[in-house]
Parts: sequence; C-alpha cells; structure tokens
Amino acid sequence: MPPVAPLDPLTGIEAARFAAYVHYPFCLSKCPYCDFASIASKAPPHERYARALLREVELRGASKVKVDAVFFGGGTPSLWPARHVAEVLETLSVAPNAEVTLEANPGAADATRFREYRAVGINRLSIGVQSFEPSTLKALGREHDGAMAEAAFRAARAAGFDNVSLDFIYGVHGQTLEQVVRDAARAAALEPEHLSAYALTLEREALAEEVPLARQLSRGEVTLPEDEVVLAMQRAVAAELGEHGLQRYEVSNYARPGFHSRHNACYWTGGEYLALGAGATGRVGAVRYQNHRSAEKYFADVEAGRLPEASREALDGETLSAERVAMGLRLVNGVKLDVVSAGRAAALQRFEREGLVVRGERVRLTERGFDLHSAVAAALM
Ligand code: SF4
Repeated sequence: MPPVAPLDPLTGIEAARFAAYVHYPFCLSKCPYCDFASIASKAPPHERYARALLREVELRGASKVKVDAVFFGGGTPSLWPARHVAEVLETLSVAPNAEVTLEANPGAADATRFREYRAVGINRLSIGVQSFEPSTLKALGREHDGAMAEAAFRAARAAGFDNVSLDFIYGVHGQTLEQVVRDAARAAALEPEHLSAYALTLEREALAEEVPLARQLSRGEVTLPEDEVVLAMQRAVAAELGEHGLQRYEVSNYARPGFHSRHNACYWTGGEYLALGAGATGRVGAVRYQNHRSAEKYFADVEAGRLPEASREALDGETLSAERVAMGLRLVNGVKLDVVSAGRAAALQRFEREGLVVRGERVRLTERGFDLHSAVAAALM
C-alpha cells in the first residue's frame, strides 16, 4: 500500500506538508545532458559525505522537525551504502507512514543492495531508465542498456518493493515518435506504480557553459525534435500509459490510483521542504535557500561549522501564493478557484474561451492547457 499523507485542501491531493530532500552528488560518470549537481567519481567519499550531511542536519537544527516524506536524489544515491542512508534517516524525525524514496540507476543496482535499502526504511524506488532504445541511450550518453533497466526493475520487485517509479526522457536528438511509444509500451509492460517522463531541455542559456550537449546544440552539431514532434511524443506517452492504468496526474507524471509521489506533491502544493546536501534547494517557512553545488565548497563550509548555503532569500506572501498557483496548475486536479487572484478574472475567461482551462470549484488545465502550462500559469499568477 502507498504511504498516506495529509490531503491538501487547495488541490485535493495527498501531499507531504514537510518533506526532506537529501542530495547525493556523485555518479560513476557524467552524462552529457546533465545539469544536476553531480560529480563523476569512481570512488565517492561515502563516509565523509555522510558525516557532512549529519553535521548539516545538526547545523540546521533539523533533527526534531517531523518529515512525512524523504527523497534521496542525485547524482546516483544508489551508490551510497545503505548504512549511510540509515544514518541520515535515523537523524531525522521521519513520520511512521512517511514515503521514503531513493533514486537508483540501472548501472548501480542489484537485489542485494535494494534489500539493504528496504531494511533501513526505503519504501519506494525511482529507477532512472530514461529509455530502453539503444540509440536513445547512446545519444544521452547513458552507460546502461534496456536489459539492465529491466533487470533493475525486477531486482526491485525481488527485494520486496511494491512502490516503484521509472524515469524517462523524450525529445532526444535522433529519437523518433515510434521509439518513444515503444519505450512507453515496454515500461507499461513492467507494471510500475509510477512513471515520470520529461522532455529533454537544453536550450536555457545557463546550460551552455557546463553541459556538453547544450554546447553541441548551440554549435548546431545536434538538433532536437521540433516542438510539435515533442508535443506529439508527450501525448503518445500519456495515451500509451493511460491504456495500461497509469493515469497522468501532473504535467510529467503518471501513476496507478493512490501511488502519486507524496514528496513531489509537497512541491506542487506549497509544502515546506528541508534540503540537505550539495546543490540541494529547500524552503522552510518563507525562506528559500540553496546549498553550494560544489561538493568541495559544501564540505568546506559544513566541516568548519557553517551552513553550506550559496544563497538564501525571504519570500513575500505574494510570491508564495503566485508559486502556489503555478505549481498547483501542474496537477490534473488544478487549484481551488479562490486562490486565483480576482485581478486575473479576464485572463481566466480568455483561457476558458480558448479551451485551455476549465472552471468548476477548481481551475484546471485541459490537455491543450497542459501543453502551454508555463504561459497559462504565468498569466494567472
Ligand atoms: S546519472 Fe543522472 S545525475 Fe548522474 S550524471 Fe547522469 S543524469 Fe546526471
């Protein structure tokens, strides 16, 4: 059974109200499209990182805060020995029914290790499949193949996980619509409880500096599929998964009934989230902070007894409620009508006429509205 969490009154979805995100910043190699805070390392400093993370919990005075979801993301947290995952969980106040997720890469996963994670309290795995297709995996620079991804899923089941999510990417250079549909069908055949499918994004200027694939794109050495093709891919994924009982509940996320991510729902419903580890971003009360992306700076600050923050900002009430609307509209449920500011009534009517939103007790995006989520949300904020 999926863990329970409080119902968010504005969106009607079960969501953690206070979550913890733990970032593990090491990977065996660096994928050419990746802009996450991750460092390639064949011998990650597991022990030192665990000590630093526990110290950060202490510096933040966070050990007494009750969290109803924990997410170990990365990086490749499935490289981290289970005893360190256990130390982190033991130092936090994790609610008895909390959803506790760990991301795993097919190349760093086996049933023994998964059993160890389960034994220390992980109750949900999120496996970074990205694709089963050899050409797509090659284009993404991934080191696993489709068979390894399927083996990782089976290992999760063999270890007793009854809540498994698979991650996919579409809109990859050289990828065809048929390949995307094949990926979705092969994923659905495994019968996971949850699946995320994100379009590859490389066009933000900030990426060009440090992401090899973004540099290749800006030099015209690779081209991504046209926007209409990417939209067709997204719709094909939604249709294929829907036929197999995985319903879209958020712009990029699909689940069997009751198995949506409580942790991610915390972000979409304005909950608070503690962030721990290099590169992690959190919001506690009205304060948002981001930790250093550089593991060296992170270690240097924490080991000297300082909070490892690269930035910290106080958010005003207007910003918080605008974010609440934008994030809530990512959900198929939408948001309660009364959180959309009265000053946005004209925009709301226009979107309704254009078939982008529907209005009842809640405002929610139509399928076409989802395609234009960012623009519609910005106009209603
Ligand atoms: S495995 Fe994930 S986090 Fe690590 S480099 Fe690849 S995309 Fe980035």
